[in-house]
Amino acid sequence: MNMPVMNAPAAPPATDPLDSLFDAMFKPMDALGVYARTGAYESVVEALAAFISARRDEGTEVFRFPPVMSRAHLERHGYLKSFPNLLGCVSCLEGSETEIRGYADRHLNGGDWTEGLETADLVLTPAACYPVYPIAAARGPVPEAGYRFDVACDCFRREPSRHLDRLQSFRMREYVRIGTPEQIVAFRESWIKTATAMADELGLTYTVETASDPFFGRLGQIMAFSQLEQALKFELLIPLRGAAAGTACMSFNYHREHFGTTWGLHLADGEPAHTGCVAFGMDRLAVAMFATHGAALADWPAAIRAALKL
Ligand code: ATP
Ligand code: ZN
Ligand code: MG
Repeated sequence: MNMPVMNAPAAPPATDPLDSLFDAMFKPMDALGVYARTGAYESVVEALAAFISARRDEGTEVFRFPPVMSRAHLERHGYLKSFPNLLGCVSCLEGSETEIRGYADRHLNGGDWTEGLETADLVLTPAACYPVYPIAAARGPVPEAGYRFDVACDCFRREPSRHLDRLQSFRMREYVRIGTPEQIVAFRESWIKTATAMADELGLTYTVETASDPFFGRLGQIMAFSQLEQALKFELLIPLRGAAAGTACMSFNYHREHFGTTWGLHLADGEPAHTGCVAFGMDRLAVAMFATHGAALADWPAAIRAALKL
């Protein structure tokens, strides 16, 4: 049999140290950073979620959010100023049956059905804590003890990547604090301590460093600099590629009065409330567990499996 004549082979894709774990954790779904999750991987995500829940502060109210949220709310949050490049917006075929059928049939005839799409009033939620601020604001002045929330959401960010620790669709869990500046600072300090103790228990190597958000564009660089200078964001970084810079698996954020002002969240004295959150990247933590302890759960150290009740 004649072999087909091949063009010069394409350069092999650069391999990443995490790639060898792909089959243990994921199955492809025809998009970068959007993967089916294996049972083993999901059991780790669930165990991590329970591990985090076990450390929930007393008096914390729980909410679980859908993967979509109000576009108007996200616009009010200022997301378009900070991260317009990461946003995913829902669009749908709207109109009469004839109009919708017309656009759908274009596809069957080899045409472009997406020309009929109209922007909906929904966006894909990019961070788990956004929906909680308007809920808190609707209650009136913040009580003296402030608020504590436990929130989680499937998040979307348009950052396709071959790296298995940067997904477009990923799970985020957060503890959120709303109150006085002192309450937020104390919350963040205590959670940096708790979170590092958790990472120790999970056998993860890490550093905690000040960080900035990847604000969009040139103006964004100024915002990022100011965030760093004020130490508003810390990250727990786990080295997943040898000596290279670690991957942010948790972040500890102080938003000052940003959300308080945006949503009219006031303290009893009329001052805008301050807010902060600690975010756990559930998928990044799970990937870090596989990268640290290996592809087979059965081979993980007994102490780690015991900590996670796996
Ligand atoms: P990075 O600098 O790595 O992009 P980030 O600063 O954008 O992270 P945050 O906005 O603080 O991350 O989000 C909270 C947490 O959500 C992060 O610490 C991380 O664990 C997780 N996370 C963020 N983006 C992704 C992503 N694309 N894929 C998987 N997890 C993510
Ligand atoms: Zn948050
Ligand atoms: Mg990012």
